[in-house]
Amino acid sequence: MRSWIEVSRSAIRDNYRAVRAAVESSIEVMPVVKADAYRHGAEEVSKILEAEGARWLAVSNTEEGIALRQSGIGARILVMADYLPENRAFFADFSLTPVIHSLVDAAAAQVPYHLKVDSGMGRLGVRESAEEISRAVRGTPIEGLMTHFASAANYESKQTEAQIARFDAIRKLISTQYVHLSSTIPIAYRRTEAWGNIVRPGHAIFGYVSPARGDAPANALRVRPALTWKATVLSVKDVEADALIGYGGMFRTPKPMRIAILAAGYADGIPHRLSNRGKVLANGRKLPILGAVSMDLTTIEAGDLRVGDAVTLLGQGNDAQEMARAAGTISYDVLCGIRARVKRIYVD
Ligand SMILES: *Cc1c(COP(=O)(O)O)cnc(C)c1O
Repeated sequence: MRSWIEVSRSAIRDNYRAVRAAVESSIEVMPVVKADAYRHGAEEVSKILEAEGARWLAVSNTEEGIALRQSGIGARILVMADYLPENRAFFADFSLTPVIHSLVDAAAAQVPYHLKVDSGMGRLGVRESAEEISRAVRGTPIEGLMTHFASAANYESKQTEAQIARFDAIRKLISTQYVHLSSTIPIAYRRTEAWGNIVRPGHAIFGYVSPARGDAPANALRVRPALTWKATVLSVKDVEADALIGYGGMFRTPKPMRIAILAAGYADGIPHRLSNRGKVLANGRKLPILGAVSMDLTTIEAGDLRVGDAVTLLGQGNDAQEMARAAGTISYDVLCGIRARVKRIYVD
């Protein structure tokens, strides 16, 4: 295979258990499996989580929710960001639970729904006063009240406290069966006042907790990356000193070098920004990317690699956070950026 990802079922399972153990047993854990479970495969991951006892899953859009239903998932499915007119019939047809983010839509809701409050993130959610919201949802099938934080990992900012205060004012006036605010970060750094009775971890399920800024409590979640991304060496060769490597001649060999050409490029999801700066792992050694990452190929220093060997683009010892730092992006983007043409296999 040119390039493939291996997803560890036991890592997904252990990470779910770690989140489960980190919060009180009265709190539901609703893993977020949107965007094909951050590329780990929504169907397979959801099956693992359901078998572990997850009673709720969250996706981004109706298509993702329908795909899970059709694959036999019986858990409740919250559709967080797709309350579009053309999709509304699907919520009843596939027993999906919509997140509604306008009071007009809330007043007309036909199925149990969760209302999203924009408590200060400035994205989806209602921004009306607590009184207006309370009046608008009265008599509707509202089941949950939720919000999302903009700066949960930043302990130098007071934005999260302000969001909690605004949300709490609404929560006091509206009683719903479910209340939820927290994704991975407020779980990991134990912002318990923001846990409500459901938490929504995505990143942690896949083995990541982003570092916090400022005076943060210790990360209380022990999770490990579930995904390893590998690529095969297509060619190995020696080049002389002063040779130019790849598009634009971005790298010039300082000495005679042995180079290896990998069967993966930016069309597979290797960030182009890693040109001349990324590293891959081979037999425990980090080997630098030489020159520009191209569409289907990437050149690295060869070390003792041979044709047909596999290198690790992403995994233990070279995880998505590291790749993201080198590429000037975030680990979420790196994971979701692994393209569909990269084959996915499951391992235990
Ligand atoms: C994506 C998302 C999550 C999960 O966030 P993580 O940081 O991956 O845990 C939770 N809630 C909402 C509303 C989201 O969009």
